[in-house]
Amino acid sequence: MRRFCGSCRFVFNKALALQKERYAQGETKLGYAGLCQQLTDWRHSAETPWLRNAPVHALQQALKNLDRAYAHFFAQRAGFPRFKRKGQSESFRYPDPKEFRLDQANGRIWLPKLGWIRYRNSRPVLGEPRNVTVSLAAGRWFVSVQTRREVEPPIPKGGAIGIDMGVVRFATLSDGRFIEPLNSFRRHEARLRRYQRAMSRKSRFSNNWKKAKARLQRIHMRIANARRDFLHKNTTTISQNHAIVCIEDLRVRNMSRSAAGTIDAPGRQVRAKSGLNKSILDQGWFEFRRQLDYKLAWKGGHLVAVPPQNTSRECPACAHVTADNRLSQAHFECVRCGFEENADVVGAINVLARGHRVLACGEPVQQGHSEKQEPTEAAAREPALA
Ligand SMILES: [Zn+2]
Repeated sequence: MRRFCGSCRFVFNKALALQKERYAQGETKLGYAGLCQQLTDWRHSAETPWLRNAPVHALQQALKNLDRAYAHFFAQRAGFPRFKRKGQSESFRYPDPKEFRLDQANGRIWLPKLGWIRYRNSRPVLGEPRNVTVSLAAGRWFVSVQTRREVEPPIPKGGAIGIDMGVVRFATLSDGRFIEPLNSFRRHEARLRRYQRAMSRKSRFSNNWKKAKARLQRIHMRIANARRDFLHKNTTTISQNHAIVCIEDLRVRNMSRSAAGTIDAPGRQVRAKSGLNKSILDQGWFEFRRQLDYKLAWKGGHLVAVPPQNTSRECPACAHVTADNRLSQAHFECVRCGFEENADVVGAINVLARGHRVLACGEPVQQGHSEKQEPTEAAAREPALA
């Protein structure tokens, strides 16, 4: 399976190099069909005969991935496609449902060039399998099956709620309930640093270095798992109990942009911002919102993004806006009418009120995307690398 991953990576990189070369020479970009023809040549060339040992559909999928990366780039949704490195998101996909067999009763799956493989089930596979992806993460292999099925049009349950995102409290709901932050990264930070130091003392690529690296990867995975679990549990509960969820339209990407600045324009409050950045990225606000979006759509509900200006400074009782209303981080007291409340709850109430206004005006509502299965987390992971 490692070799299959390597072959897919090789094909992806070779095709990308070819496209770049063609561009440099003023030639047009090869389409998917053209790339597939190239692939046939590579598989039969004397230089790379080992490509024939990998399943051809998986290699074609690598070309399709490159094609899509280009499409995202041209649509300005993503940066220019980059070469893949060994050890980074190793995976391969069987895109054709005729190519594999899933035997759920016996917990096994048949894959081309691999045969029957046992797996441990995380949840039942519902519907008609469409494709299978095999991936490697922190030394463990995963198989995921994408399926298609008819779903009854859902009837949303519950009313509308506003959510205020914060650092001290991860999320505050307009009815006064709140979610404590998880801060999984902070909790493991000391351990992470210790193992990072241990790894840096080993000589590179030695057996002990590899062991140290594997240990480090396991910690990273545990952090990621804890965070994913936290986000999924909370977004599931919220989307099950509410038909409309209003949330501030925070641009997490902008907020988490490096505070350091450039030489010409050095950033202000670098230390304060980098602290906040760590909190934002650690807590996964972007992922939280993404999950709410598609889970609400599954349940027939809506996510409404509202303008975030002054949500923490406006009085919900008399609409007076001033920074003096919020003298401390936690407490809100209106200087005009004397309305008092927890500051985060005030934020959430304002978000809800704005959500109602957005809906009443018929302004575009942030619709959930009706994807076949859970959308990938690629978009959410991206800011974490910044
Ligand atoms: Zn007031």
